[in-house]
Amino acid sequence: MKITDHIKNAKGKTLFSFELLPPVKGQSIQWVYDAIEPLLEFNPPFIDVTSLREDYIYKEQENGLLQKVSYRKRPGTIAICAAIIHKYKVDAVPHLICGGFTKEETENALIDLQFLGIDNVLALRGDARKADGNFVPTPGGHSYATDLIEHIKNHNEGKFLHEDVETFKSDFCIGVAGYPEKHFEAPNMSTDFKYLKKKVEAGAEFIVTQMFFDNQKYFDFVKKCRENDINIPIIPGLKPISTLSQLNVLPKVFHIDLPDELTDALAHAKNNNEAKEIGTEAMIKQCKELIDFGAPVLHFYTMGRPEQTKKIAKAIF
Ligand code: FAD
Repeated sequence: MKITDHIKNAKGKTLFSFELLPPVKGQSIQWVYDAIEPLLEFNPPFIDVTSLREDYIYKEQENGLLQKVSYRKRPGTIAICAAIIHKYKVDAVPHLICGGFTKEETENALIDLQFLGIDNVLALRGDARKADGNFVPTPGGHSYATDLIEHIKNHNEGKFLHEDVETFKSDFCIGVAGYPEKHFEAPNMSTDFKYLKKKVEAGAEFIVTQMFFDNQKYFDFVKKCRENDINIPIIPGLKPISTLSQLNVLPKVFHIDLPDELTDALAHAKNNNEAKEIGTEAMIKQCKELIDFGAPVLHFYTMGRPEQTKKIAKAIF
């Protein structure tokens, strides 16, 4: 079922969902089941599975020349989604990224997703490869999420890349990323909004936000979206603090701020266990406010570790 229909059917009740990343290569599908099963009691209508682009390194050869070697860390987004919908009868949402895929490969992925009965996709540009620093599009691939959305919309209408193949129509419900604290590359918030609106005009039907720790940022973002005629559901993405090092890592990696109240509380934490307890309590408070505000879904970035999210969900649902 489409995420927009899940939200409609909930009639204003806030739903619970989460996302996991594929395990590192070499793990089995049991890793995925262990990451999901503790959270099923909260009836997630959908579960997201992230996608990671191949990276590369330069390896010195015997002749002294450098050879570029690509490597894949976490395979299996589509396979994991297939396992989820067929084992748990819960909608699985694959993250489709521009980076690492030619347009033909994207089309192949969409054909597989339709075949597997997957109704939703989150369309993203994707992170930069570590080796590149900045995002570098794949030759023959898409450069921005907007281009990918247009591709999926065309696919929905049965317009394939090459006219000489048999086509069919699909009906993917497309989600996109939104940044209450601005995407780090955008020169300012209004430019970022301009492109967010383009994504909606191209066919996005729901937004999932980057993590944030200050609800006011989300409230302001929703207000600004509505003022800009962006009227689709805006799902808050949430990540409870679980280690002391995240105080520095999260702002650096995700370009977000942590509010004083949280950093002051964490300053008293002596170890990771205490930091996790503080992070859990702060997230419970954050979630209660979001429910009061009428957030359609609380979407947790579990990173495949369900315990803390379970504790939070138990306190609020
Ligand atoms: P876009 O919407 O394409 O925007 C990228 C930047 O370009 C922005 O600064 C925007 O303002 C600007 N821009 C947009 N369109 C144009 C245009 N036409 N011309 C000029 N500038 C433009 N990354 C992964 O690799 N895998 C994942 O699974 C993944 N999941 C994510 C899930 C969520 C909910 C979020 C919030 C992020 C996720 N990311 C993931 C990270 C995301 O890929 C990065 O933040 C990436 O840098 C931007 O992706 P986007 O889809 O927002 O890009």
